[in-house]
Amino acid sequence: MSESKYWEEEWETAPREVIEEKQLESLKHILQHAYDNTVYYKKSFDEAGVKPSDVTSIKDIAKFPFIDKQTERLTQGKGSMVGELCAVDEKDIIFISASSGSTGVPTISPFTQKDFDEWMNIESRLMYQAGMRPTDRYMHGINFSLFVGGPCVLGAQRLGAMGIWSGTLPSDRLLYIIQQFNPTFIQTTPSYALYLGETAKKKGIDPKKLSVKTIIVAGEPGGSIPATRKAIEELWDAKLIEFYGLSDIFGACAAMCEEQDGLHLAEDHILVETVDVKTGEVLPDGETGELVFTSLRKHARPMIRFRTGDIGYVTKGKCKCGRTSCRINIVGRKDDMFIVSGVNIFPSDVETVLRDLDGITGEYRIHVFNRDYTARYGVEVERSYKDEEDHVLDSRVVGALKSRIGVKPDYVKILNDGDLPRAEHKAKRLIDERK
Ligand SMILES: [Zn+2]
Repeated sequence: MSESKYWEEEWETAPREVIEEKQLESLKHILQHAYDNTVYYKKSFDEAGVKPSDVTSIKDIAKFPFIDKQTERLTQGKGSMVGELCAVDEKDIIFISASSGSTGVPTISPFTQKDFDEWMNIESRLMYQAGMRPTDRYMHGINFSLFVGGPCVLGAQRLGAMGIWSGTLPSDRLLYIIQQFNPTFIQTTPSYALYLGETAKKKGIDPKKLSVKTIIVAGEPGGSIPATRKAIEELWDAKLIEFYGLSDIFGACAAMCEEQDGLHLAEDHILVETVDVKTGEVLPDGETGELVFTSLRKHARPMIRFRTGDIGYVTKGKCKCGRTSCRINIVGRKDDMFIVSGVNIFPSDVETVLRDLDGITGEYRIHVFNRDYTARYGVEVERSYKDEEDHVLDSRVVGALKSRIGVKPDYVKILNDGDLPRAEHKAKRLIDERK
């Protein structure tokens, strides 16, 4: 028998009506579970005048109130450690992860055994979709410490691949491990994939000749920016597959397939909506807005209409790979967006332009500041040619940004290759001097 292209073929290729039927059934169940078993949802649904029994279509989710990171934080620790969003007894929780807490108090994410097992099945499915097979060796080069991305390595092992739990070792050590154990897959952030490849070259190791054939990236945009993706793929002579997840629900819940055309969402676990950032109004498929997730099966802590803070759009319709799940496309974080002369700009927009230009390394840093009560931006870049005069390079970069983003930067500062800090994990690309 030939090997299947799919981990769960029937579900992965199901017609839209079947997907939505299953979603409706799960939605009714999870809303009732949330209402009956949490302090928070009972109160918030009652205040909004909605009942789980009112739901007759998945579109009815729009009648329910939103929650966000702030709700998560404020309800945490109330009544119990896991707080008012928790819908099970603490004795039924077998795992918690905690967010990095970069913007405040770390938030935790609890799992029952069933939640955890189902999550691992999603990880296996997405890794299989990325091309991983039992003969592969998978080096999990991301943080294990409390991070929700850590256990994803179990998804690879469940699939039958060999798990190499490297975590975030120093680069020298990591390169040595790659040379010793010859992983075919590695997972890291896009910034770090670039950094590690460049570090290898500086040490006289050609990353193209290493065993890595697929690089899974997650944690920051990059993987969906074509020029960045190309830079990583060429550096390593490997295929890049982007994964997306959020600690508030679970590790990866969406990932690219070999077509690299958006990220297939695990629709059996997540119901996605796109909403207008300001008004919260639901937008049609294909329009860009804030992605809102409802977790359909996570019992320990149901997340009903969780505003992810990620800006993106959703496409439906069958992918060339044969899968029928919708695909999400992330353009940036709501918090990183800045507005200059009425144009919404994400760091990823600037990156798209810069990585396409010759003569610069592709590393960059954006400064947003006010002058004459108006927001403006400047960009630092690094030159890679020695023989181009500063003013020529400067005008090329300014011209490209102006024509492709629509707003000219106030300045472009030209640095030498290596002047900007290289990220060991997530890159800090935006400095908002107004804060
Ligand atoms: Zn596909």
